[in-house]
Amino acid sequence: MAGELYVVATPIGNLGDMVPRAVEVLHAADLIAAEDTRHSGRLLKHLGIEKPMVAYHDYGEQRQVGRIIQALEQGQKVALISDAGTPLISDPGYRLVRDVRQRGVKVIPVPGPCAAIAALSASGLPSDRFSFEGFPPAKSVARFKKFTALADDGRTLIFYESPHRILESLADMSQAFGGDREAVMARELTKAFETFLVGTLDEICQMVREDANQQRGEIVMLVRGAPESLSVSDEEQQRILKVLMEELPLKQAAALAAKITGGQKNALYQLALSLRS
Ligand code: SAM
Repeated sequence: MAGELYVVATPIGNLGDMVPRAVEVLHAADLIAAEDTRHSGRLLKHLGIEKPMVAYHDYGEQRQVGRIIQALEQGQKVALISDAGTPLISDPGYRLVRDVRQRGVKVIPVPGPCAAIAALSASGLPSDRFSFEGFPPAKSVARFKKFTALADDGRTLIFYESPHRILESLADMSQAFGGDREAVMARELTKAFETFLVGTLDEICQMVREDANQQRGEIVMLVRGAPESLSVSDEEQQRILKVLMEELPLKQAAALAAKITGGQKNALYQLALSLRS
């Protein structure tokens, strides 16, 4: 099989971000596999490219995957694109790339825009270590659980979020990570209303609540990682918490214990609750 599969990034808003090599590859492709052929058809028209297209979803019809594989088996060049940004990044493509690789076909990336990386690069948050978490669960219980599991992670956390859920999600983040955790909300990147909201989670929550415009468009949320905890042992943390709980309400005791030990406020509050019961 001598065909080649190109994984091609496309703009996330500003068409000027289309990489010249990506244009060349699309011009040279025999078949273009797209998440939404109508949506991508508009980009291709703008670029003056007219090619056979096939819809591709990771859980789509086998018939369409068959057509892509057949084209590759015939030695054709196939380009995979998504609606915006880099395919496979919260977008379809993983199964196809895996399947095609297992068949020994060459898979070639054509890098370009990606909302998560664009947001991180301009956020001012630590970028040496980060974790891309995609879309948080839509349901509140699962979402809160997911955030709580990440509360002690020291890396910058990157999430995609829909504008309809951003307020609920921010409220859950505040509770799970602590309202004083530094964060950045990047909205409408590369577009006319590009906005970066910078502050603590509580501050960003308030800004979004007070300005309906912030609840529109496309959003990347970045949360600074948990601070390195001091080398205070779990036993010592518990001892300090217990002393404070004798004098103060639980929330205050947990907050103060977090300040003294460098531990996580939320984790200490949970510990205080279990100690009390
Ligand atoms: N594959 C894309 C990429 O490389 O970024 C992401 C696709 S995912 C289905 C779409 C989500 O990415 C949006 O809901 C939003 O969270 C984020 N996103 C895409 N374009 C964006 C933009 N221009 N500004 C901010 N976020 C964006």
